[in-house]
Amino acid sequence: MTTDPSMPASPFTRLHLAQAPHHPCPLIAGPCSAETEAQTLETARALAVQGVHYYRASLWKPRTRPGSFEGVGQLGLPWLRRVETELGMQALTEVATAEHVEEAYAVGLRAFWIGARTTASPFAIAELAEALSGRDVLLLVKNPPQPDLELWEGALLRLQAAGITQLGAIHRGFSTYARGSYRNAPLWQLPIELQRRHPELTILVDPSHIAGNRQLVPLVARMGLEMNFSGLIIETHCTPEAAWSDAAQQLSPLQLQQLLQQLDLGPASPSAVPSLDLDPLRAEIDRLDGQLLSLLSERMQIAERIGALKRAAHLPIVQPDRYRQLLEARLQEGRARGLDEGFVRELFSSIHEAAVHVQQAAQH
Ligand code: PEP
Ligand code: MN
Repeated sequence: MTTDPSMPASPFTRLHLAQAPHHPCPLIAGPCSAETEAQTLETARALAVQGVHYYRASLWKPRTRPGSFEGVGQLGLPWLRRVETELGMQALTEVATAEHVEEAYAVGLRAFWIGARTTASPFAIAELAEALSGRDVLLLVKNPPQPDLELWEGALLRLQAAGITQLGAIHRGFSTYARGSYRNAPLWQLPIELQRRHPELTILVDPSHIAGNRQLVPLVARMGLEMNFSGLIIETHCTPEAAWSDAAQQLSPLQLQQLLQQLDLGPASPSAVPSLDLDPLRAEIDRLDGQLLSLLSERMQIAERIGALKRAAHLPIVQPDRYRQLLEARLQEGRARGLDEGFVRELFSSIHEAAVHVQQAAQH
């Protein structure tokens, strides 16, 4: 492997996760929550026969609002141990406090994840890092709900520094102000940037919490694999509609099986696409990107001249009517050219923001 001198060495090492030969990637499956011993074991049996190696089920549930099911807690620990000893899967559960770690570790559980809300709190991460330090455990860290890459990366680095070596990340989407079709917006650029910074870090995708409904889970799972992430964690329940938490997004074991069959992208074979075909197209992309940058720089220079004129006339920099008209016109033109509306909107709002900065800088 070549090393890029501009990139500091990353402290993470790749996880070696078991994978069933007929599965497209390593897979963690299981219900959102362990509800009863019967539901935990029935779901686990249906997954074990499919060759699933890793079983998930939350015992302690962080809930946004009071009054919802908060998990069975300690009561479910022996159920997860039964999944391990009787069915041969490794069980993972969510830990949010040192006490959770102690209790789960004491019964023999060795694989955990940290939930989104916990990753958002550096105090909680420090507590967990201390509790897990020196223990040989598999630990996966979900991204925080807010689109803050530093918080996610910071949590991973803190846990790594505590000596946890079997460490990976889970991308579960982000809360955003705009309500889209996803429960949690995927904002793929964030996990992609995390992977760029840490090529050896194993990142799994959680299409269940990104999608929020089972219809959309296969699409998000496919996107995750096409973007080259290392595996999937998919909520699966023996009777999904009757689940005590996240009922809308869980799959039945049969639906999971069908999803995995459809997902099979076939063995990766870079040689199937000769670089002879890719190279000229990549050169074309590089050329167009150069043009885009040169146009953007020209556009900023004009914005600066406009800023000077506004200043002379004592006009405010932001003119809401003009911005509204400009955005409408660009959206219309984008639509006519077959471009995604959300993309065009984001692009021009960020171009406009940068132009406002340039004009502000010119005024001071
Ligand atoms: C979960 O995995 O069921 C869960 C609560 O997820 P998150 O922490 O991503 O919201
Ligand atoms: Mn859930």
